[in-house]
Order: sequence, then C-alpha cells, then structure tokens
Amino acid sequence: MGSMPRVAVIGGSLGGLTAALLLRDLGCQVSVYERSQEELEAKGAGIAVLEATWRYPVERLGVPADDFSAKTNWVRFLEADGSTEFEERRLYHLSSWNAVYRVLLHGFGKENYHLSSEMTSFVDDGAHVTIDFSDGRTDVVDLLVCADGIASEVRRTLLPEVSSSYAGYIAWRGVIPESALSQETFDALYDSLTYQVMENSHILVYPIPGLGGEVEPGQRLMNIVWYRNVPPEDFEEFLTDINGDVRSVSIPPGLVKEQDLIKMRADAQALLAPQLAEVVTGIKEPFLQVVYDIEVPRMAFGRVCIIGDAAFACRPHAAAGTAKAAEDGWILAEELAAVGGDVEAALSAWELRQLALGRSLLARTREIGYRSQVAGTFKAGAPDLVFGLYGPGN
Ligand SMILES: Cc1cc2nc3c(=O)[nH]c(=O)nc-3n(C[C@H](O)[C@H](O)[C@H](O)COP(=O)(O)OP(=O)(O)OC[C@H]3O[C@@H](n4cnc5c(N)ncnc54)[C@H](O)[C@@H]3O)c2cc1C
Repeated sequence: MGSMPRVAVIGGSLGGLTAALLLRDLGCQVSVYERSQEELEAKGAGIAVLEATWRYPVERLGVPADDFSAKTNWVRFLEADGSTEFEERRLYHLSSWNAVYRVLLHGFGKENYHLSSEMTSFVDDGAHVTIDFSDGRTDVVDLLVCADGIASEVRRTLLPEVSSSYAGYIAWRGVIPESALSQETFDALYDSLTYQVMENSHILVYPIPGLGGEVEPGQRLMNIVWYRNVPPEDFEEFLTDINGDVRSVSIPPGLVKEQDLIKMRADAQALLAPQLAEVVTGIKEPFLQVVYDIEVPRMAFGRVCIIGDAAFACRPHAAAGTAKAAEDGWILAEELAAVGGDVEAALSAWELRQLALGRSLLARTREIGYRSQVAGTFKAGAPDLVFGLYGPGN
C-alpha cells in the first residue's frame, strides 16, 4: 500500500465532515475548511436519517442512531377531514441537521476543523493542489474534496455550463415544540411520519430531536415540509425577503415577508387536516427552501472532486440528500484504499459509481415531484415513496 494523500475538504457540513472522517480513518492527513465563522448550529431543519448517514456514527463512533434521532413506527396519510386514508408500520429515524452535525463534529474534533476559512481559488498542477483562502492563507494538498453545497462556487468554476433548474415549487419548513401541541394532535402525530396529499401539493410532518438533542416523545420538535408550487413569473417577488434581498436557495426563519406568512397560514387552515393545520399555523418562524435539480456530467477533475449537493442536488422526496453526500465519502474512501492512495486512479473509479448514483436519485426524485406537483398521480401509500438512496427502502 502506498502512502495516503494529504487532503483538504472544503465545506464542513454533513457531506464534508463524513468524507473527512472516513479519509482520516484511512490514514490521510485531513483538514476541513468551513467558511462560516461559527460552528454551524443555525440550520434547524429536520432530515430523515438513512443508512449512509447513520453508518459513520454507529459503526465508527459507537453512537447509536437512537441517540441522535427520533423514531417513528408508522407512516400515515391523512384526508383533509383528519381521518386516516392509509397507514402502515414502517420504522424511520428522523433527525435534524444540528443533531447529526454535532455527532460528526465531535467525532472529528476541532483541531483540524477550521472555521472562517473561505476557499477563493485553487490550482491543480498535476502533482499537488494549491488552495487560496480569502484571508490570504494557503494550503497545498494531494487531494481536494469540495463539499461546498448546492451553491458551490467550485462547480461554477469547473463546470460553468451546468446550471441549477428550478423545479417549480418550494418547501415551507419549520418546527414547533411537541409540548405546544394539543394532546389530540400530539397523540395523532408523535409516532408517525404523516403525509397529506392535496391538489398539486403534499405535506410531510414528523418529529425530530429537540434543540438540545432531546429524543424523548413530548420533548422533541414537530417538523414540517410542505411543497407548494410558485410559478416562475412570481418567483423573484416571492423570494424577496423582509430586507428586500432576493434570495435564491432559501429564506431563513424570521426573514419571510409577513404577507406570505399570512397567506400560507390561511391556506393551511383551508387545505390541511386539522391536526396538520394546528402544527403549521403554530410555527412561529416558518422558513422556506427552493427545490432545484442540479445534474453534473463530471465529479472528478484530476486531483479535485465535488461531492454531495455541490455535485448533484436532488429534490428531497427520497429523503436521501444527506445520505448521498455521506455515500460519496464512503465510496471515495473505498476506492482510495483499493488503489493504495493513488488519487487520480481512485477518483476516476469513484466518479463512475457516483455519477450513476446521482443520476438515478435525480431521476427518481424528479418523477415523484412531477406526480405530486403537476400530474396529480401521487398516491397515498405508493411503494416507491418509501425513502431510500439506491431505491425505495434501500
Ligand atoms: C426542503 C429540503 C428537505 C430536505 N430533506 C432532507 C432529508 O429529509 N434527508 C436528507 O438526507 N436530506 C435532505 N435534504 C438535503 C440536505 O439538506 C442536503 O443534501 C445536505 O445538506 C447536503 O450536504 P452538503 O454537505 O453536500 O452541503 P451543505 O450542507 O450545503 O454544506 C455546504 C457547506 O460548505 C460551506 N462552504 C460553501 N462554500 C465554501 C467555501 N468557498 N469555502 C469554505 N466553505 C464553504 C458552507 O458554509 C456549508 O457549510 C433536504 C433539502 C431540502 C431543500
């Protein structure tokens, strides 16, 4: 086995941290560079935790998934009157970006996790990659892993022809403490992933850990993801926040215009099952995320690669975005080990596999989104709605 490369990971979120941990385990010297000035605690949104996401914490850190996720045993689809249209037993682990991040960062440690470190450019000379940061620092590595997210500057630089395509809808997000719900609503929702299908829309409601990591029912948060169409011609106005800034990826909590909140809450009262309307209208600071498709023709470029949302960004319907980012790291470590640390050989083998995964996930999630938001053929309990990275339930 040759010697393992020295690695820089750009982006210290879930994708970057998982890759960094796996490459370090392989014997690489790894530094993570994150542009935020503070540890990334702000993103309060829920994520369903699939195997690729919990695999590192469970297998390598010995932290059981139950410690950082809420468990639900049921999937339910409600009618508008609140009755159950369909239900089945299905176990899901539901967590939050915060809870998973905390476990991974604790595992990696802070010594080589550098905040306030924004990469501004890099040069791959065939033997090494030289990286420049906005404050004038530089680093020289053998492998540059870019996990810089959906708005990736690295993707824009390496693949200027790739653009993100707006899916035609946004997701309203937000959380409310379970303790703030009526007993009836809590009883109806605490042990399930609950859906409601509407004309050109669907909503998911599920519990996630509390802000302090609490996983006991009653002490957690109830989280929503409500997909609503926004026609392209209304997009710019809709994505203008209270400060007049036009956003592209999301409008954070507290910055959504009052008139849009009023309309959203009124729609919730009119359209949603009473239990779900109670959750949605009780959320103090709803926020929203825009749904995009991004497809890349390449992920490896000499000694540089792009992973996670920096490469393919997929609609959230398979709940697999974080799992895909983590899987990019698992397979990279596997291919690097297989060739004894030869970066370019590993990246070519890795790219073939990850391009195939990205394309299949994108196709699957596009199709589910089309059925829900356009065609009206999104059906309660359809087997292919089961979450999964490689396929439903997988
Ligand atoms: C509505 C919605 C619902 C979702 N639900 C789920 C779900 O249920 N389950 C799931 O698994 N996924 C879900 N996702 C997807 C998930 O959020 C993403 O796939 C995941 O966060 C991608 O992680 P990442 O590490 O690739 O990128 P990100 O989390 O976007 O992180 C990128 C990081 O890079 C940093 N950065 C950027 N540029 C630089 C630079 N130049 N220098 C240094 N640092 C930089 C940023 O500050 C950021 O911290 C959902 C997404 C949406 C929109």
